Amino acid sequence: MEEKSTAQIDHHFDIKAETFSQWAHKAVDWIINYLENMNRYPVLSSVAPGDIRSKLPAMPPEQEESFEKIFNDFEKIIIPGITHWNHPRFFAYFSITGAYPGVIAEMLSAALNVNAMLWKTSPSATELEEVTLNWLRQMLGLPETFDAIINDTASVGSLCAMAAAREYAGLHIREKGMAGLPALTIYTSNQAHSSIEKGAIILGIGKDNVRKININDRFEMRTELLTAAIEKDIAAGKKPICIIGTIGTTSTTSIDPIERIADICEHYNLWFHIDAAYGGAAAILPEYRSIFSGWQRADSIIVNPHKWLFTPIDCSVLFCRKPEVLKAAFSLIPEYLRTREDDAVKNFMDYGVALGRRFRSLKLWMIIRALGTFKIQHVIREHIAFAGKLRKMIELHPNFELLAPTPFSTLVFRFAKSGLDQDRLNQLNQELLDAVNATGEVFLSHTVLNSKFTIRLAIGNIKTTWVDVERAWEILQQKADELNN
Ligand SMILES: *Cc1c(COP(=O)(O)O)cnc(C)c1O
Repeated sequence: MEEKSTAQIDHHFDIKAETFSQWAHKAVDWIINYLENMNRYPVLSSVAPGDIRSKLPAMPPEQEESFEKIFNDFEKIIIPGITHWNHPRFFAYFSITGAYPGVIAEMLSAALNVNAMLWKTSPSATELEEVTLNWLRQMLGLPETFDAIINDTASVGSLCAMAAAREYAGLHIREKGMAGLPALTIYTSNQAHSSIEKGAIILGIGKDNVRKININDRFEMRTELLTAAIEKDIAAGKKPICIIGTIGTTSTTSIDPIERIADICEHYNLWFHIDAAYGGAAAILPEYRSIFSGWQRADSIIVNPHKWLFTPIDCSVLFCRKPEVLKAAFSLIPEYLRTREDDAVKNFMDYGVALGRRFRSLKLWMIIRALGTFKIQHVIREHIAFAGKLRKMIELHPNFELLAPTPFSTLVFRFAKSGLDQDRLNQLNQELLDAVNATGEVFLSHTVLNSKFTIRLAIGNIKTTWVDVERAWEILQQKADELNN
């Protein structure tokens, strides 16, 4: 009797294949309708804090629920609280794209559900990552000396690079920890992304040992101050380990003097890390390579395909010219993760924090193949051209001013009618940004530059056309007029 009742249990605990088929097809139709009709949605969600949570049951269901009901809630409850990052009029932070081939790859990768920790745990996942990143390296014009790995984010990639820098200092911190050592110091500009400081916190370097070097009027690191800071630290018995330059800072997209920083790193034998999370994508344009001059001298470089290379979040690439140092920083192999092939293959778990790794190369590979280098170049070139065109219009407007150069596709500017003091202008620009975003038609964000509240408009979605950019500019002028009257 016992046996019979066991045999009667339906072992299809997951939803049935027919149900999957029905809802997967519905989901694909929904996705197409969504992505082709984004203008029906306000770019920025207008819900209040707690609105979404209050519509959801606090307790998990005990019984199965129909997919119809679940999908209905997705549309009715979840979608209103979505900020539409895939919208062509999303100009805030850095505009991104989850292009169609990437969406397909994410579906397939969920179905395969592989863990790319070891070569053996999915040879294709490891080898496709190697091949695709080698393609990307060539597309960006980096030499063969660079190895690469995909991480979830630039924050984690930079953390790994800084851990490699710490290893490179040769202080055996991996074994002994940091007690009794002189303070380690790292150097970056005061425009560097906050992830650099966070990395220093996590690695035990400490916020106080991050030297935020001052910048020139173009928001680029002043290398004479960099050298002075290093000399001062050495004289005080500290141990400099790393300089981090940025190509495309987050606020203004400024570019640090890469060749000169490389010289300084070589002189002091410091690890040179470059954060090009956003800007790095522009290296795909041969005519833009001069901007990147010297980056091949870095020990490690971050480029985020999930920022300006149309890949769904998350996909961040860490290029590294000293992979053996990165491996020395991270590799730790317990018996249960040893394989017979260890000597012949790359096991990506040896080069970073996480053991388990998603099959992220699949989406990058599908995007590069489905679009091709020429089309990707074309879109990036177009985004830069749109930014240049809008820059000219802002320049000519009597009541707006640009606040930094525009090396890529991101503009920083403000409403600046003469005769108003700084506080009033800051307040007006905050109000202007709020009014523009409240239209729901576009979404822009802000930064603060030299105490000036600054509006930021970043172009980067694959579907963005000049009409979208022009519309943002019309709304900005119209709302500025309204506020001004
Ligand atoms: C966006 C950005 C980051 C952070 O990227 P994540 O992948 O979200 O961690 C780091 N550095 C720069 C320059 C960026 O623009």
